Amino acid sequence: MILKEAIEQLKNGLAGVVAEPQEVQAMIRVICEDVFNYDPVDVALRQESELPGFAPQRIGEIIARLQRHEPLQYIVGKARFHGHSFKVTPAVLIPRPETEQLVDMIIDENPASDLRVLDMGTGSGCIAISLARALKFARVDALDVSRDALDIARENAADLKVKVRFFECDMLAPQPAASYDIIVSNPPYVCWSEREAMERNVKDYEPGQALFVPDNNPLLFYKSIAPYAAQSLEKGGRLYLEINQRFGNEVKGLLQDIGFDEVRIVEDSYGKVRFAAAMRG
Ligand code: GLN
Repeated sequence: MILKEAIEQLKNGLAGVVAEPQEVQAMIRVICEDVFNYDPVDVALRQESELPGFAPQRIGEIIARLQRHEPLQYIVGKARFHGHSFKVTPAVLIPRPETEQLVDMIIDENPASDLRVLDMGTGSGCIAISLARALKFARVDALDVSRDALDIARENAADLKVKVRFFECDMLAPQPAASYDIIVSNPPYVCWSEREAMERNVKDYEPGQALFVPDNNPLLFYKSIAPYAAQSLEKGGRLYLEINQRFGNEVKGLLQDIGFDEVRIVEDSYGKVRFAAAMRG
């Protein structure tokens, strides 16, 4: 089999599964990189190259898994976030591009060095590790309730050569107050009733524990994070949250009631309400 044939096989296999031609192209890039170690330039120049003997079977397996709507990031075991490659398994949410914007907002607004940072519900560690890489001499802690997620996050921190202290801890259980300059969280915020409308690759494969909250308590995690942050942030310290676009006003009200200053609701680059930020006065 030559490369051109493998790409044809992928295009045909994905035809009914992925609607956007650009997304098909992007997936083919990731697959060629993962399976053949070919970057886009190799792909352009080596269309006639003979592939190793395992190619047809491996390509067939990948197509079959994609046809069952398994996310490509779980198939290849990695996802890009904020310029780095993070290991991912079904124990952790696949990092989302919107969340890169949360990381950028924190980096832009916090140029000081030696900041103490806490990421609550770290999953793959993508927020904590990206901040540890980008902020000057930051001391970053991260917690998660899932031991399997923490194993992945620790591997990612080691691979990306940063020191983050990881703790097994439930965001909903009271923790001893500590002392931080920045607290960030992208907690579960999708209501169970919204699940039906989600893509199959999300609802059938990603960890529900990291995504969903009960319809009768959509602010569940913020009600725990915000009081903890009010106790644990230094004066002038900042809280950054990713939120459900339906609950911007409610999250804002909650933060104001708890006594935060400068409460802001921020839209993502698609124009959707997606983040909340506040300062401890
Ligand atoms: N943004 C994610 C999604 O739409 C949800 C992330 C979360 O619940 N924290 O799938």
